[in-house]
Amino acid sequence: MRRKRPSIRAAFWRILRLRCPACGQSSIVRSPFRIREFCPECGALFKREEGFFVGAILVNTIATEAIILLAYLLSLTMLQTDFQTVLIVLFGLAIFFPVIFYHHSWSIWLTLDHFIEFLPES
Ligand SMILES: [Zn+2]
Repeated sequence: MRRKRPSIRAAFWRILRLRCPACGQSSIVRSPFRIREFCPECGALFKREEGFFVGAILVNTIATEAIILLAYLLSLTMLQTDFQTVLIVLFGLAIFFPVIFYHHSWSIWLTLDHFIEFLPES
């Protein structure tokens, strides 16, 4: 099957819907917190080698830090906010956001990999 890169808009839409970055037909998620080995529609390999998951962890870490920074900056604009409350909210974000964002971090990582070098076929 001949591979081609999707448009930025299509890639963004596939990330949001957790679809295969190569074809957009199938979900990258097999079950909650389990990513498929490959796309059942086009055969694009999602878990291509040992350690490939580190990129998804990197995406998740960067997104979490960005969200924490954004929440902190927003709290600074709210002058009456108690700093103890801000710390509790930021701590909660640091704990729960990476869990909630797990699948999308994989989707972003796979899409970046597909744009840089096409996902290989299984
Ligand atoms: Zn596919």
